[in-house]
Amino acid sequence: MDKKQLSLKIKAEAKNLGFFACGIAKANAVDPDVVASYKKWIGQGGHATMAYLENYPDKRFDPRLLMDGLQSIVSVALNYAPANTLPQGEPQFAAYALGKDYHDVVKGKLRQLAEILGFDTYRAFCDSAPVLERYWAVKAGLGWTGRNHQLIIPHAGSMFFLGELFLPIELCYDEPMPSRCGKCHACVDACPTHALSFVDNTAKTQFDARNCLSYQTIENRGDIPSDLSDKMGDTIYGCDRCQTACPWNRFSQPTDIPELQPTDELLNMKREDWLLLTEEDYRRLFKGSAVKRAKYSGLMRNIHEALD
Ligand code: SF4
Ligand code: SF4
Repeated sequence: MDKKQLSLKIKAEAKNLGFFACGIAKANAVDPDVVASYKKWIGQGGHATMAYLENYPDKRFDPRLLMDGLQSIVSVALNYAPANTLPQGEPQFAAYALGKDYHDVVKGKLRQLAEILGFDTYRAFCDSAPVLERYWAVKAGLGWTGRNHQLIIPHAGSMFFLGELFLPIELCYDEPMPSRCGKCHACVDACPTHALSFVDNTAKTQFDARNCLSYQTIENRGDIPSDLSDKMGDTIYGCDRCQTACPWNRFSQPTDIPELQPTDELLNMKREDWLLLTEEDYRRLFKGSAVKRAKYSGLMRNIHEALD
């Protein structure tokens, strides 16, 4: 099979496995302007307490250091737009957290993809290594980075998990896609805590995790500053406002991936159930879920901040 046929086969098999989109980028050093803005963001503390984002800059800025002989990065996107959400009026979760842990689901499918194609030498990643996932998804032609700092897939939106298959073979490469945000700033306007803001006199935005409710309710282990917790509304884990405001998400279709469907128990949780949630309930409700990241204590902190 020549590299063109193999590239097409990789994409076709990725679709068969349920990935919504798949593209291929040549593995190279990351563009200097992207490196400079990432370093500036870290230098300004925009990553808050997520110190892991400072680690392994050499590998983050040159993925060839993550795998001997790396030539190609296959970027995939798995749809998590929810088919079922928690009832309106009840406490809410960010859509990505409703099903099973996406790390396991995406990496499992990437390993299946490698097996189907007979690749012995590969690495599979999903938010699990110093890989600039959105950057590589853009390079692989999946979409563009929106002003909400999410990957936007045209006519599909941003509710996608990203993953990468690293391969030591040459393939046919896709073209990056230019931004189609145009003059829109709906995501910036929708952010209740000004975590997104325009860089002076430009159409570019910057993101400050310290002001982001998603960071505060998932990653922050301390208290949530009261000026931010006041803006949580009824969402007790994460925040989707800058995604739901995005006009491209009007095109999103509910995911049909079985592992990403919420359980009936989660869908039936009411305000009073959350307030009385025990650690045992928490372990049962979120077995195999990414919500474990916040730990029981973190979720209870969120519940009381939002609902008391
Ligand atoms: S997730 Fe919420 S708080 Fe964070 S940037 Fe988006 S809208 Fe703002
Ligand atoms: S809301 Fe508008 S500016 Fe923000 S990512 Fe979507 S299209 Fe771009």
